[in-house]
Amino acid sequence: VTAKLLDGKSLARELQHEIAERVMEFVQNNAVTPTLAAVLVGTDPASEVYVRNKRRACEKVGMESRLVRLPPEISQDELMGVVAKLNRDDGVHGILVQLPLPSQIQATRILDAVHPLKDVDAFHPENVGRISQGRPRYLPCTPQGVLQLLFRNGLAVAEKRVVIIGRSDIVGKPLALLLMQRESALGEGMANATVTVCHSRTPNLPTLTREADVLIAAVGKPRFITAEMVRAGAIVVDVGINRVNEQIVGDVDFEAVKEVAGYLSPVPGGVGPLTIAMLLQNTLAAAAAQMA
Ligand code: NAP
Repeated sequence: VTAKLLDGKSLARELQHEIAERVMEFVQNNAVTPTLAAVLVGTDPASEVYVRNKRRACEKVGMESRLVRLPPEISQDELMGVVAKLNRDDGVHGILVQLPLPSQIQATRILDAVHPLKDVDAFHPENVGRISQGRPRYLPCTPQGVLQLLFRNGLAVAEKRVVIIGRSDIVGKPLALLLMQRESALGEGMANATVTVCHSRTPNLPTLTREADVLIAAVGKPRFITAEMVRAGAIVVDVGINRVNEQIVGDVDFEAVKEVAGYLSPVPGGVGPLTIAMLLQNTLAAAAAQMA
């Protein structure tokens, strides 16, 4: 067997097409262009690339993007001031603070300061709380990207056993919340999964992963998921982005696992491009919410 590829790159292109049409309609109806402000502190090369890709994607779908570039030595108070100013600016609909922030900055305080209506990453506790209560405002980008990748490939999670490896606040935990919901905006098949969340203190990990109909890796360790950890025919989604000798590899040992899995998402070209598409979707939703 060779797994079917879950191609995030072409799907992201398709989604961006759809978003571009909705942006055009929005601009016609409101005479306002949805605008994302990206806050980039310092010169971390990976962050530079992420912000550039996000801004390019905005422009591709007809939205505006602003870059607020700040020096690495900026103080907590100064950065709070920048966020407050963006919160007040009616011309900015979405605010993205690129992580990681330098060590003198308390990231949580900064993320908490972003106005919940402009919080297109869905990191604000109000938005996280809403997700947990099943009445989301904005969907967290990477988890929603995973759901889209499954949904658009016709793969339902309802009544399936899903195992997630990773419990971070930006991937594993919100993904678990979305998958175990009673209802999903994407339809019946995209809710009601039975979810197991694993982490570094989970004993007998391979025993658990082998029970998964859908296995989602968000570990941050190159080729962590080996073929022995995967049930034959399982759906495997690789969220990992790891740099190994100048190359980007996922959390899944792609070559070995593709011989066992039924479906497998590649890295690069899997979840990554969808994360950006979901950010665009949230920015458009944020602009709409601020018109009301
Ligand atoms: P993170 O905050 O470092 O979380 C990693 C999780 O993996 C933690 O919960 C950790 O457990 C768990 N873990 C680590 N070692 C383990 C082990 N040996 N066995 C079982 N669990 C283990 O990372 P993250 O932010 O969630 O990101 C995960 C990966 O996804 C990274 O490679 C990141 O670059 C990538 N990512 C990709 C996108 C995208 O757009 N595709 C977006 C965000 C992140 P503990 O909680 O016990 O420490």
